[in-house]
Amino acid sequence: MGEFRVRSILVTGANRGIGLGLVQQFLGLPNPPEWVFAACRDPKGQRAQELQNLASRHPNLVIIPLEVTNPATIKVAAARVQEQLGDLGLNILINNAGIAKPNSLDNETLENMTQIYTTNTIGPLLLSQAFLPLLKKAAQGSPGSALSCSKAAIINMSSSAGSIEEVYLWDYGQVVSYRCSKAALNMLTKCQSLGYREYGVLCVALHPGWVQTDMGGSGSQKPPVTVDESVQGMLKVLSSLSEKETGTFLDWEGKVVPW
Ligand code: NDP
Repeated sequence: MGEFRVRSILVTGANRGIGLGLVQQFLGLPNPPEWVFAACRDPKGQRAQELQNLASRHPNLVIIPLEVTNPATIKVAAARVQEQLGDLGLNILINNAGIAKPNSLDNETLENMTQIYTTNTIGPLLLSQAFLPLLKKAAQGSPGSALSCSKAAIINMSSSAGSIEEVYLWDYGQVVSYRCSKAALNMLTKCQSLGYREYGVLCVALHPGWVQTDMGGSGSQKPPVTVDESVQGMLKVLSSLSEKETGTFLDWEGKVVPW
């Protein structure tokens, strides 16, 4: 971990939960990135208060507006990051923003399924397309050909709830649209790993654990993992990723999750 050096990183859904935890811990690394881009829907609003406080202490933190279901804001965000980074490129894109609704097989609707799929699956697809030129630049500017997060990576925040083999926590909640959206995100990750390998971009789907956030704690039980523990684990995993992990589905402790 001590050697983990990343020049630049962008996290979506960075104003609370796991996204905020990622931003905090990246900023706190012994060798923090030169630039941390924290993307959220309303950078100046109350919901981004913690990010604003962090930005007042960390000049390398840039808060950028982003609604992941809106292609226009994605383009503006990519242009903003490009402006800041110039020819250096972006090392890591973390597609973290996501939503879940407690719907079941009986009450899923077209609107609900569409909204969740658009946010959790199409959002990461569009973000990755928009930031690919910047990721490619970072990969080209980095020595050697081996894939790593220090070179260029797309990290898709998935969930074991989307694992077809595990169907994690089925008795706790069916969340059908959420499960389908994450299963599709997993396939997207595999496709990206195959399509982007030649550009030097590593692609991984990560399960952060069952974490104490608004989403994780929305049911009757308290999730076992704190944001700090989850993020600490994921940073360790990110620091160790190499060639052989691209296109895999891992959890916050580095264990392989079955598709
Ligand atoms: P939270 O509900 O705590 O936070 C979700 C974040 O995503 C918020 O910052 C929210 O912004 C943002 N977001 C949601 N929709 C959009 C959108 N359309 N555009 C931009 N930002 C958006 O969730 P977690 O932190 O728990 O989850 C983070 C990721 O981890 C998700 O992808 C989730 O599926 C995954 N995950 C979480 C688990 C857990 O136990 N917590 C378990 C497995 C996976 P805003 O404040 O504006 O709503």
